[in-house]
Amino acid sequence: MGVDYLPVGIGLYLEASVLDHSCLPNATIVFEGKTLLLRPVREIAADEPIVIAYCNVLHPTERRRSDLKERYYFHCTCASCEAVDSEEETLKRRSVRWESDKTVQAEYAALEKAMAKRVRKGQEEEAALPMYRKMKSCFHPFDWRYCQTVEAAFDEALDGTLFEEAYDIARDILTAYERFYPEFDVNTGLMLLKAGKIALYLDKLYESEQLLTRAKEVLSVTHGADHRVVTDRLETLMVELKAYKNLS
Ligand SMILES: [Zn+2]
Repeated sequence: MGVDYLPVGIGLYLEASVLDHSCLPNATIVFEGKTLLLRPVREIAADEPIVIAYCNVLHPTERRRSDLKERYYFHCTCASCEAVDSEEETLKRRSVRWESDKTVQAEYAALEKAMAKRVRKGQEEEAALPMYRKMKSCFHPFDWRYCQTVEAAFDEALDGTLFEEAYDIARDILTAYERFYPEFDVNTGLMLLKAGKIALYLDKLYESEQLLTRAKEVLSVTHGADHRVVTDRLETLMVELKAYKNLS
């Protein structure tokens, strides 16, 4: 994994491979160059095992369990998987926007079919931006299929230099991340950093400051305050932000 948490190669880290999985992890793995860092993301009691997430915890229980079974051959019985979802929670993960009228419901039904087809064909992340634009008005922001589309749409918006749209998408993603990921999560930290950077270039200085400040809190836990993602990337943006603020 690189600084952006994107795979840059495969390494074999024997000590790390003994760590067990939980969908409610208490630790995370990040890299500083080729060095693997195992970092706690919350307080861990002396007798508590250190657990990391092998799967995408943004996915709902049934999807997480089937992914884990397929790739790691076990049935997850972590507290998150065992918790009986409240009816409300289940609805949110797979649902139309609450305040929907008939037109929205019809759009939702059509898109749900289209999404199911994309999932079947493994094309969930292709042409995500146009899909996101359609889903936005009728899918609940916590719907996991929406979350997945939004993540891919963010990259497409950035590739297309559509910064205003990328910023809106980032805010949407963060709503879901803050809800489903642990308080200190690598994905959340990096998305806060990216959103803060986009906000800065869009001259949204107040929003940028809020996002970068929160990014610093999260990344100082997930990566450590002396990791270069904090000391270089984040600090550079903070300095730029300060300069912009002095100008305005
Ligand atoms: Zn689990």
